[in-house]
Amino acid sequence: MSLANELEGLIRTIPDYPKPGIMFRDVTTLLQNPTGIRKAVDGLAEAFSDIDYDLVAGIEARGFILGGALAYAQNRGFVTIRKKGKLPHVTLSQQYALEYGVDHVEIHADAVKPGQRVLLIDDLIATGGTAEAGMQLIRRLGGSVVGAGFVIDLPELGGARRLEGLGARVECLMR
Ligand code: 5GP
Repeated sequence: MSLANELEGLIRTIPDYPKPGIMFRDVTTLLQNPTGIRKAVDGLAEAFSDIDYDLVAGIEARGFILGGALAYAQNRGFVTIRKKGKLPHVTLSQQYALEYGVDHVEIHADAVKPGQRVLLIDDLIATGGTAEAGMQLIRRLGGSVVGAGFVIDLPELGGARRLEGLGARVECLMR
């Protein structure tokens, strides 16, 4: 069985969450399976095994689980990209559009040094708005986003193409 099929079998779909009409891809079932979490993290490591990076940046909250495990396994530092108001020190904030309204993600201003090479990780990419905001934060600090990795891509929402249009290499373990 392919890695994509194996991981897909561990993802649960919740209809009408968080609101009617949305099919939510629930990765908690994958994460709680010992083979699932290992293969997802190893799959992301393998997808970027040909490039060099200094840091892994994870997007709150599921990006912390996968990105934190990847950083540990690859002996890299880990940077948190968080929802607004969660970080205690001096932060940079980046606004992004939601279907209705806007939201913000934040990073510590000293989390990435100019010239550092950063791999951005989240569980899923849909429209790409969250990941684009994360990329912008890293770039505003002078870092370069050498890759963006996700377990799941929802291709009909165009997020992966959007990030590629901004010059990022995108790798997803399944569609
Ligand atoms: P985007 O900004 O690409 O439209 O949405 C992606 C962000 O929303 C990611 O941080 C992701 O964790 C979360 N997200 C959106 N839809 C889903 C979903 O169906 N399942 C999961 N696990 N996360 C989702």
